[in-house]
Amino acid sequence: MSDREYQALTVETLSGRVGQIDAVAKRLGGPPDTWQVREVGDGNLNLVFIVEGAQDSVIVKQALPYVRLVGDSWPLPLYRAFYEHHALTRQAARAPGTVPAVIFFDETQAMIVMEYLRPHVILRRKLIAGEKVAGLGQFCGQFCARTAFRGSELSMSSPDKKADVALFAGNVEIPAITEALVFTDPYFAAEMNNHTPGLDPVVAALRADVTLKTRVQAMLMKFAANTETMLHGDLHSGSIMATEDEIRVIDPEFVQYGPMGFDIGMLMANYLMAYFSQPAHRGDPGPYQRWILDVITETCAAFTAEFRHLWATERTGMLYPRSLFEDQGHSADPACSAMLDTIWQDALQFCGIEMHRRCLSLAHNADFEEIADVALRARLEARNLKMGAHLIVATATIASPQALTDMAEKFN
Ligand code: ADP
Ligand code: MG
Ligand code: MG
Ligand code: MG
Repeated sequence: MSDREYQALTVETLSGRVGQIDAVAKRLGGPPDTWQVREVGDGNLNLVFIVEGAQDSVIVKQALPYVRLVGDSWPLPLYRAFYEHHALTRQAARAPGTVPAVIFFDETQAMIVMEYLRPHVILRRKLIAGEKVAGLGQFCGQFCARTAFRGSELSMSSPDKKADVALFAGNVEIPAITEALVFTDPYFAAEMNNHTPGLDPVVAALRADVTLKTRVQAMLMKFAANTETMLHGDLHSGSIMATEDEIRVIDPEFVQYGPMGFDIGMLMANYLMAYFSQPAHRGDPGPYQRWILDVITETCAAFTAEFRHLWATERTGMLYPRSLFEDQGHSADPACSAMLDTIWQDALQFCGIEMHRRCLSLAHNADFEEIADVALRARLEARNLKMGAHLIVATATIASPQALTDMAEKFN
């Protein structure tokens, strides 16, 4: 199907078109016209189908030439599928077992055929339903540390890293969405913004805070101008799928090279928003809120432990060579600690920014959005917004994950 022009798939046309791809047809088994095709896309951007054959099932994800959430008034390049595909293969190599396997990729059709994760569900749904996932913090911390370390010059040679940065630098429009929706729009009356009635005074206070806006812009400069490692770029709880004890990361189309603290910061924000929204989702929110804070603590501990482990055992790249440290009898551990401190400070600020944009800018999250009682929603979102501001302006006072979770309890 790749020699034809791009054409969006439909439930009706998918079997006939995808059935021509040998690798996929063999895997699914049986005649394509017997395959069951369902559209499942619940994301903001793309078409996603489940295709069930006689032997096996796959996911078919296809980019649309516009933003699905908004419609064809907002065009978006198809090439993002090319970058998502390359991100998935790099994540599979750098953090084995964490992402769905790619079965087939068609650049013209902007289509990725991949492993169907089941019975996994989107983590955000579990967090709203109050369901626990065993090993979540360990998994997330390791995923972030492995991709951060192995996508950087701590692990890569300078030419390899430059080639990879050059490849992903072509993903232009997608980072521009983050630059606007995440870092900029929350702090002025941008056209596509919306927020819950009742939040006006909190929003006005954020926009009047020049120190805060200055810090956010400094973080935007880091995000845009700094290529420390390959980011997932959209690591929220809707990009993680889980059973009660198995976890995978999906949807890396926002991939770019950027600062090491970005993914883990965005993830912590999504845990904190799940935390603040709990009183609306269950009668006795305390025990589940405690579990969410434990997940944050475990994520940070696993990140640090894995990063230190890789620093000690896999520091084979251009940066911090052993010739400058161990070979001359000097420990490189203090240098590792200094880098972890910088990552932590960056992560806290990215966390605060993500907490803001999910209540103020275009794409809100279900944790808050599904709260029907508007006054209650405003009250809970206000806690989240205020803590976000504190993370951005008082970063230096938050020295540890414990200090972060203590602060969440204070704002709750
Ligand atoms: P978008 O880029 O539009 O956000 P996603 O990659 O997040 O698309 O996929 C949208 C939805 O499709 C996910 O929320 C999930 O429910 C489902 N999905 C995507 N990939 C898989 C997969 N490999 N296995 C099972 N379900 C998936
Ligand atoms: Mg998605
Ligand atoms: Mg996506
Ligand atoms: Mg909202």
